[in-house]
Amino acid sequence: MATQRLFFALSLPKPLPQQLVNWRAEQFAAEDGKPVEAANLHLTLAFLGDVSDTTSARLQQAAARIQQPGFQIELNDAGHWPRPGVVWLGCQRAPRGLLQLASLLRSQAARHGCPQSTQPFHPHITLLRHATQRVALPAPGFHWQFAVEHFGLYSSSFSRGRTRYKQLARWPLLPLA
Ligand code: ATP
Ligand code: MG
Repeated sequence: MATQRLFFALSLPKPLPQQLVNWRAEQFAAEDGKPVEAANLHLTLAFLGDVSDTTSARLQQAAARIQQPGFQIELNDAGHWPRPGVVWLGCQRAPRGLLQLASLLRSQAARHGCPQSTQPFHPHITLLRHATQRVALPAPGFHWQFAVEHFGLYSSSFSRGRTRYKQLARWPLLPLA
């Protein structure tokens, strides 16, 4: 049976990806880790793993029924997980709408047979990979923000030494109050 590696995620509106890439170049040294390319910067809401077309279609129907307002994300936190070697940007306080959306997608995923991690959800944007050594994190005080007006379903594939994501579908959130 054919499957695809899928995940629900938020993309970053332009020009934020390029702004983050420029900022990252000032903050980190080459040996700190491998920078995620601008087009691949994203915030994962729910990881689905290898999914059949039937399950994908069911998950898309469930996602299309989600009705919740958009929200604003303030990126004002950074951290380093030496294992698996990730430097990330996140929120000191994740907005309720973000947690609600992720929680709903994760429970729908689990209901459709996509096991979810038992670790608490920690919303983040991966900036660097292969960051297994000590890394000096950006000084506090930075602040990036963006409005979230939709969420998407993405496939992930690895070929010719690169990970590529493809947006398969996208759903709007209700207008920001
Ligand atoms: P790579 O090809 O180097 O693995 P990647 O990690 O970005 O790149 P995927 O492994 O396909 O690509 O993951 C897609 C997204 O899902 C990423 O945001 C990744 O962090 C997240 N993800 C992957 N595996 C899990 C998992 N088991 N639990 C939660 N999130 C995951
Ligand atoms: Mg991975």
